[in-house]
Formats: sequence, C-alpha cells, structure tokens
Amino acid sequence: METIQNQPDDNCRVTGCSGAANRKGAGLCEKHYMRQRRHGSTDKALVLRPGLIDHSHGYKLAHAPDHPLRRASSNRVYEHRVVYHAEHGDGPFLCHWCSMMVTWDDMHVDHLNDTKDDNSPDNLVASCAVCNPKRGFDKMAATHRLRSERRYTAHGKTMCLIEWARYLNLSRNAIEYRLSAGWKIDDVFSPRKGRSGPASRRHQEVGTAARPPVGYEIDSHQMRTEMVR
Ligand SMILES: [Zn+2]
Ligand SMILES: [Zn+2]
Repeated sequence: METIQNQPDDNCRVTGCSGAANRKGAGLCEKHYMRQRRHGSTDKALVLRPGLIDHSHGYKLAHAPDHPLRRASSNRVYEHRVVYHAEHGDGPFLCHWCSMMVTWDDMHVDHLNDTKDDNSPDNLVASCAVCNPKRGFDKMAATHRLRSERRYTAHGKTMCLIEWARYLNLSRNAIEYRLSAGWKIDDVFSPRKGRSGPASRRHQEVGTAARPPVGYEIDSHQMRTEMVR
C-alpha cells in the first residue's frame, strides 16, 4: 500500500512518487490524481482485489468494478467467471457437455468437482443454459440413487457413499464426479488434493481428468498476455 504523506513541497504526496504535484488542490501528480479519481485510491488498480472477496451461496464474489463481465448494477463478479475469463478470454466457447456454442451473455461456468468455491482454472468449464440445470437435476438423481446403499471398498474399508463422504470430508457429488470420471477406486476414496492430501501422481490425474478439451484454450494466450502487467 502506498501511503500518503504531508509534504509541504511541490511533489506528489504519494510516498516514493517524484512527480510534480500539478494537481495543486489534491497535492497529486497527474497519474496519481487520475487513479484517485477512477478508483478512489492512489494504489494501482488490480483486476482482482484479494481482500475484497465475498461469498454468495457458496460461490466466491470478486470486487472488480472495471471487469467486462460486471453487471451494470454491481461492482462484483462471480470469481469463477473472472477466472474463466482470464484463462479463456471473451469467447464464444463450446459447452463442455454438449458442444453447443455459448457466449458470456448466455453461458454458465460450471465447477467440475461441484466444489462451488474451488475456482482453479482446471475445475471450470463453460456450460449452456440447457446443460447447466440438467446437471443440477442429474446431481439430484445421483443423490437419490445413493439411498440405495451401494457400498464401496477401498483402502480395506467398506462403506456407502454417504459414509465415505463424511469420512473423507468430501461432498457426495465430488465422489460421484470421481467415479464418473473413471478414477481408480482407491483414488476415488482418498482425501482431496491439497495441504492435507497425500502428495503423489494421483494429483496429476486430478488435473488431467478435469481439463477441458484442447479446443477450449483458443483465447487464453491473448488474455494471459494482457494480464501480465
Ligand atoms: Zn504521484
Ligand atoms: Zn450444453
């Protein structure tokens, strides 16, 4: 954070700035004056301000007043949309599930592992307005099916999915996702990757399984270049 000092000379009052304070009333140089006007702060504007992330129904919201996906009435954008946009650009894209063409105006960004706040780029795919609610329906049907008490044996333990979910601190949908993605049974019933999980090859499989098809990355290069500032 750049702090503002009281300097009685003709320099910009932002610490470390040697610019002339030609905006006399504000005591700021042209650059810092414009920043102050546009963003309400002399700090450099960030695409995403990490301190200002909020949650809505389990999803993360990002404070991003200058983001192109921002709705007119709000300074916030769902973080998964910001991440997907940074990775893949302005689109259009193909729906991950049915390959229909979608744009930012009509698409949803789905979380492959059903963890609503896991916004790692590999976990995010574009979804059309038909597949997104259908997926919600499939999840409900899957939850229903779980009541039939299927049992799974892994690591020498036999439990139904609900018990496994509780045991591993995973959602049942996350386990269903692993099963449908064809993971090895011992991998399906292992803790989530990350701090607490065992580090191994297993984690690369997570990335591979969740990766969208190659055609997806069309706009990513252009966008990435813009982000690296
Ligand atoms: Zn300045
Ligand atoms: Zn679709």
